[in-house]
Amino acid sequence: MLSVEEALAQLLAAIEALAAEDAPLAECLDRVLAADALADIDLPPFTNSAMDGYAVRAADTMGAGVDTPRRLPVRGEIAAGGAGLDPLPLGAAMRIMTGAPLPPGADAVIPVEQSRAEGGMVALLAAVPVGASVRHAGEDVRLGQRVLEAGTVIGPGEVGLLASLGYAQVGVHRRPRVAILSTGDELVEIAAKPGPGQIRNSNAAMLAAQVQRAGGIPVGLGVARDTRESVHATLDAGRGCNLYISSGGVSVGVYDVVKAVLEERGGVQFWRVNMRPGKPVAFGLIDGTPFLGLPGNPVSAFVTFELFARPVLRRMAGHRLLGRQLVRVIVDDAIGSFHDRRHYVRALVRWEKDGWHAVTTGAQGSHLLTSTLAANALIVIPEGSRGPEAGEPANALLLEWPEVR
Ligand code: AMP
Ligand code: MG
Repeated sequence: MLSVEEALAQLLAAIEALAAEDAPLAECLDRVLAADALADIDLPPFTNSAMDGYAVRAADTMGAGVDTPRRLPVRGEIAAGGAGLDPLPLGAAMRIMTGAPLPPGADAVIPVEQSRAEGGMVALLAAVPVGASVRHAGEDVRLGQRVLEAGTVIGPGEVGLLASLGYAQVGVHRRPRVAILSTGDELVEIAAKPGPGQIRNSNAAMLAAQVQRAGGIPVGLGVARDTRESVHATLDAGRGCNLYISSGGVSVGVYDVVKAVLEERGGVQFWRVNMRPGKPVAFGLIDGTPFLGLPGNPVSAFVTFELFARPVLRRMAGHRLLGRQLVRVIVDDAIGSFHDRRHYVRALVRWEKDGWHAVTTGAQGSHLLTSTLAANALIVIPEGSRGPEAGEPANALLLEWPEVR
């Protein structure tokens, strides 16, 4: 049986970033740049005022103070958007607004708060050095500069910068399309009331949500019955997707046919991982497309998605950082029990004065979906060891950073 790390390494060795496409900037949040972004202009594009005030020559402000104002005639006004400016006449000031271009000859701005308008004159109440309240062309970004490297994740700041540089369309890695297949004769649609022996297909909805969180596009293939023919036929509907994810049917039950189908369509690379929940996890290729067979138990599907499917989706989307942050936590309630296999315990992690703390989300059976509620972390208990007692430390994988009040 493979360790989680060995299984993940095998899996990722078979996965490459998807090709690039041009997408409108507004659709690029959280996606990954496929090529370097270059500056087509300076930023700021022109030297401009950082304040509402008066454009001056710094030398003309020498000796000015609240008690020793220096008076200059005001020769015109420059608003944001102004262009083709007259030079600042010698010994004069010009009224200027934030973001307006500095007129030729001016080398500083006196903020309006440090001045007093007196008819056609302005009394300057402070001396300022050259460059005061001036934003220089190219101070932030230089024309031709490589501003963002390929592989950069586009957050709101990157969106702002790309917009400033004219990237209405951005070359980004494609988002993986993920075909989600459920297996089981007992499954009914979520809108149906389950009859005797039936359960609602919760995994497809949950996995689609996880795919979306991981930046992928879920494509529902529906439910395959527990026969090879039905699994084959359902898989056919997923042609063109970048990844198949199934749930159920990969264990050792008589009707667990997914592994057999995988063998017939391309080969099983592994099908068991030394972990709990979720030992049966199959990986292989279906007609050349990666296939991840997750366990049917909802919690096992949830956890194995996190550990295996999410890194795969991230790599496909061009991300270089694939994993979750591990933090050291104090476990507030006892986990105690001993397991041979690596154990992932759902927990709520929060910050306290003395560091990170975790409480488990209660009973941890792999069929108990409520154990995923409010969980923002998985406490990792190494294989062949006993879980921490209350107050003992452990490592936890953060599924999301806790919010604070
Ligand atoms: P299996 O691996 O197919 O034996 O499934 C293990 C358990 O997970 C069984 O109790 C199944 O009923 C349940 N299960 C399988 N698929 C789903 C699904 N799509 N939604 C909810 N539960 C499921
Ligand atoms: Mg089944």
